[in-house]
Formats: sequence, C-alpha cells, structure tokens
Amino acid sequence: MKTIPLILAAVLLGGCGWVRGSGHYRVWVDPSFSAEKQVEVRQVVAYWQDRVTGPQGPVVDFELTSDPDADGDVIRIHSTTYEKLTREEPSDNPGDWTLGYCGYGGTDSDIELSSNMNRPQFMKVAQHELGHALGLEHEPGGVMDPGWIHYVVTCDDVKQFCEEWDCDASKLNGCTHPIDITSMQDF
Ligand SMILES: [Zn+2]
Repeated sequence: MKTIPLILAAVLLGGCGWVRGSGHYRVWVDPSFSAEKQVEVRQVVAYWQDRVTGPQGPVVDFELTSDPDADGDVIRIHSTTYEKLTREEPSDNPGDWTLGYCGYGGTDSDIELSSNMNRPQFMKVAQHELGHALGLEHEPGGVMDPGWIHYVVTCDDVKQFCEEWDCDASKLNGCTHPIDITSMQDF
C-alpha cells in the first residue's frame, strides 16, 4: 500500500496540557473557509457528535457559534494554508507539510486546517484534529493514526475517547454502528 508520510501535529501551547472540559463545546468555524469547506467542517463536527452519542445522549456536545471569544469551552477551527502550517524547513514534498494542527491550553483549543486539501484529505485531517481537541493522542487503528490509513473515526478512536471521558464505548454509536458514513456523503 502506498502510504504518504503525514504530519498531524498536536502541539501544546504555552506548556499547557489538554484539560477535559465541561463536555459542552462552542465551535467557531473560521468564516474565511470557502462555503464548501465550511460545510465539510460542520459535517465533521456532526460526525464526531454522532460517534460519541449513545442511548443516554451525547457524552460531549457541540454548539456552533459565530463568536470566537464565546464563553465556555471553545474549539476554534481556523482556515490556513500549507505554508503557514509548515513549521519545519520549507519543502517541495507535500508529504512533509503539516496539514492540520491542534493547539490546546486549558479547555479551549485552536485547530488549523489547510484549505488546500481535497475533500477526503480535509475531512480526515479535520476529524483527527478534533480528536486532539477532545484529548486523544496518536494511536494506530483509527482516525488518530497520523498517516493516510483511516479516514473516519473508528471504534478504536471511540474507545480512546472513553478512556478520557469515562464512558462505555460499547454503548456509543462509534462502536455499535462502526461503519456509518452516511452522514459523510460522497466521502
Ligand atoms: Zn495528530
């Protein structure tokens, strides 16, 4: 299988580690994303929301906000380009570019997503970075794998999520309906 090296960074800002929030997140989507990319970001948020929901309701929930300084726990999703995200030496090899970034401190997170990706890449990276914002680390077997292997949140990701959020992964949609990409049309 052809694999493309990919750097999906989780960098701690200001020495702060991830802190579990209230479980209710305000999500701000950068209005400078194209209309198409804004739809894709919202689909990714909705997809994570579905994956971590079970009969008791969602373990965490997301509410879109137009205010990047909204009160509460906020996940800001910024639009950027390859160049801005390249934190190492500049390179002509796309595999050397960092396509997404999640910086988190306290209970707020700032995600940067390169708008230069095609839809499958963009949605994979967006799911991955949102996973970091929820406290997930790199793990093989799911969307938290840093390579181009798994494009959607899997049960492995939901299990890791439940280690952070004290939930029963076997009851959540991400494990009970492990291959449900109907909400990711044309993905
Ligand atoms: Zn990562």
